Amino acid sequence: GVPIALHIFFFQAVASPPSSNFLLLGPSGAGKTAFTTLLEAKSSLASNKSHGTHTSQQSTFVTVTLPPTVPTGSNRYRSDNDPSLKEAIRNPIKYRVRDTPGHGKLRLSQGISELQTMSQSKDIKTRLRGVVFMVDTAALVDEATLRDTATYLHDVLLLLQKRAKNGSSSKRTTDIPVLVAANKQDLFTALPPGVVREKLEAEIDRIRKSKSKGLLDASADTGLEDEEEILGNNEHETFSFKLLEHEVGIKVDVVGGAVKGDLQEEFGSGVRRWEEWVGMCL
Ligand code: GDP
Repeated sequence: GVPIALHIFFFQAVASPPSSNFLLLGPSGAGKTAFTTLLEAKSSLASNKSHGTHTSQQSTFVTVTLPPTVPTGSNRYRSDNDPSLKEAIRNPIKYRVRDTPGHGKLRLSQGISELQTMSQSKDIKTRLRGVVFMVDTAALVDEATLRDTATYLHDVLLLLQKRAKNGSSSKRTTDIPVLVAANKQDLFTALPPGVVREKLEAEIDRIRKSKSKGLLDASADTGLEDEEEILGNNEHETFSFKLLEHEVGIKVDVVGGAVKGDLQEEFGSGVRRWEEWVGMCL
């Protein structure tokens, strides 16, 4: 039995994880297309292949490469001489990113429906590993932009919450974590990630409150119990991403970065911490 066991282990070690799909969401102008293009450029630099460009009007799947020095959840390198690091350099892990356009009307029909389809998928090839929700941290000072962004994020999280609940009755569904990629940190008007987190949490709390009030009014009218649920369940507590993790098990991280800008010391270093987040999901 030993040779077979070794064979299986080796196969898993060299092959890319079977479901390494990530969905890239967020409002228009956040930097999704720029991010996808950068990842593609970094990947083709690594593999010496050229790549095509794409417009931001259509969903696209691009296969990109995780830099070998980025640790993965299943494979953490202990030292530079670690054999698994050498293996990763020879056989870099690939993952797929799906970019969705963020324009008002298209957002609901594409971003959310894409999330719906991919998060429900039982097929190991299309199953979703994580959601990257990109925001323009310089634009969030504007009230309307903040509200729009928080509404979108609220809808994304509520969909994931419903999915988590439905799955628990039968087979345990695997968690889909969310990265809020706080982009454009190179701009001096950008809000730091901690403030972005607070603003989004407070705005989602407001959205939740007005929603539950609306539901109360509606059920008073009809006398019917409304089944619509509240994000994070516990409506007596102020909303926070911690509450969501505690009540529902959905983990949200807010991590700063920059796709563009002079602050980048080296090519692509502004997105390193997002790549590390991706790595930890794999
Ligand atoms: P999308 O609508 O989410 O796909 O956003 P785009 O990728 O089209 O980016 C919108 C604009 O923001 C473009 O002009 C980008 O060059 C710019 N942009 C994207 N990322 C950054 C960043 O990190 N810093 C700065 N300063 N500009 C960025």
